[in-house]
Amino acid sequence: MTADANLVDGIAHHQTWIDGQWCDAVSGRYLDSWDPSTGRVWARIPQCDAQDVVRATQAAHKAAFEGPWSTLRPTQRGIWLRKLGQAIAADVERLALAECRDNGKRLSEVRAQIEGLPEYFDYFAGLADKFEGSVIPLNKPDMFNYTVWEPYGVVAAITAWNSPLALLTWKIAPALAAGNTVVIKPSEHASVSTLALMRSFEPVGLPAGVLNVVTGLGSEVGDALVSDPLVSRISFTGSGAVGRRIAARAGELLKRVTLELGGKSAQVVFADADIEQALRGVISGIFVSNGQSCVAGSRLLVQDELHDAFVSRLQSAIGTLKFGDPRAVTTQIGPIANEPHFQRIQHDVSVALSEGARCVAGGQPVQVAGGGWYFAPTVLVDVTPSMRIARQEVFGPVLAVVRFKDEAHAIQLANDSDLGLAAGVWTRDMGRAFRLSRQIQAGTVYVNTYRGVAPQSPCGGYKQSGWGRENGIEALREFLQHKSVWIGLGDMPEPFPAA
Ligand code: NAD
Repeated sequence: MTADANLVDGIAHHQTWIDGQWCDAVSGRYLDSWDPSTGRVWARIPQCDAQDVVRATQAAHKAAFEGPWSTLRPTQRGIWLRKLGQAIAADVERLALAECRDNGKRLSEVRAQIEGLPEYFDYFAGLADKFEGSVIPLNKPDMFNYTVWEPYGVVAAITAWNSPLALLTWKIAPALAAGNTVVIKPSEHASVSTLALMRSFEPVGLPAGVLNVVTGLGSEVGDALVSDPLVSRISFTGSGAVGRRIAARAGELLKRVTLELGGKSAQVVFADADIEQALRGVISGIFVSNGQSCVAGSRLLVQDELHDAFVSRLQSAIGTLKFGDPRAVTTQIGPIANEPHFQRIQHDVSVALSEGARCVAGGQPVQVAGGGWYFAPTVLVDVTPSMRIARQEVFGPVLAVVRFKDEAHAIQLANDSDLGLAAGVWTRDMGRAFRLSRQIQAGTVYVNTYRGVAPQSPCGGYKQSGWGRENGIEALREFLQHKSVWIGLGDMPEPFPAA
């Protein structure tokens, strides 16, 4: 990482990327970035503020409306996107190491995720010149009416810390394909991989201002970005609490916003399921990535007759997992991404216990040589639907188990939530699988599988899990506005015809 940053006292000081140049924050301030596997500072990122936001949005606005980007044909934008995808493919290891160090996600998992990102750039590159307007058959013979899809201009892309490069790709690939320019605001807890991505993109030579990054605190730089008059479209991934704040501000300013928020996704396991498969799906749904995944299957609904056997299988499967450095190939459980989050997880578990849940696995931090913030995969039983642990997202390795009697009861419990991001259904009865997939109120329903994601398939939330969709054709539409053009073919009628 030393080529990317100045070393000061052994700590990499990064610059940010605005208007086609590397620069410090105008204030000259930095924020610490912590390595969750040691609990020590490993990098510093510019602490941007409103002054940097103005620099970035002005550059992005110029690129969107005056620069070469504004006159490119859609096919040419597709060519640029493919080059960006290729730049990622050529730099996977460096990007994966940066992200692993910054948020503690296991290197093998981050690597696999980043290896998949060029496919998203290819997909949206292919779509760039296929979004067609239409000719509208008006009942007015002297009028010709057609529609065109146009970009908004400057998009603000605000991302969370759990998978910075994947979440960012889901925004910038369609936003750029649609002809917008972007100002990126990564999480203050994990910004280094986003800066590393700009290093990977630099040799591609995108016109200045097309992509810009403002690192810093959400309350300082995120708020200024949302409020900036040159930003006309916002795409946000993060918590419901911040999503609400952004939606309120966007509402005041009448800006359109896409929100990808949290979940409390149900994994519904019927007694007739293939138990081995269901066990794998439930474990990977909540404990791989330490539950720090938006679609984490954090509510296990299990049929009465299977409950005890399934919980006991879960206990033995997670009891022997190996904790350690997320870069080590033998590590199965890495650290929690940052200290405030680590503290919150402990608090959420203690509230669950105080409300009557019973812990049958984990429930506490784990000491690992070298320090860091590790928490044991946790299973809580005797959970009732009204408990906080059954209703609020933990975003950590905590599984709340609720029993159900029959299909109707399972549907009622699955839908007894303000959130609706994803759900899993495990059964051999395909009729039941179809019924549940229609009746569960969630943006994604997985049947006998879990956690899949692909550029072609839309994802997003029902209820309070979000607004709008990422991926799939709809994602491109999120970054385009539809214009209707009327052409008069005859004379204008008299404004005030004589009576
Ligand atoms: P967060 O809401 O705390 O922060 C998200 C981003 O918003 C960060 O970049 C932060 O700096 C910024 N921010 C904070 N305050 C802001 C403000 N006032 N104005 C503008 N920006 C502001 O979320 P987090 O802790 O980074 O991420 C965890 C959450 O993200 C979880 O709830 C998780 O479910 C959610 N998430 C959702 C998806 C999805 O696709 N639905 C994917 C990943 C994560």
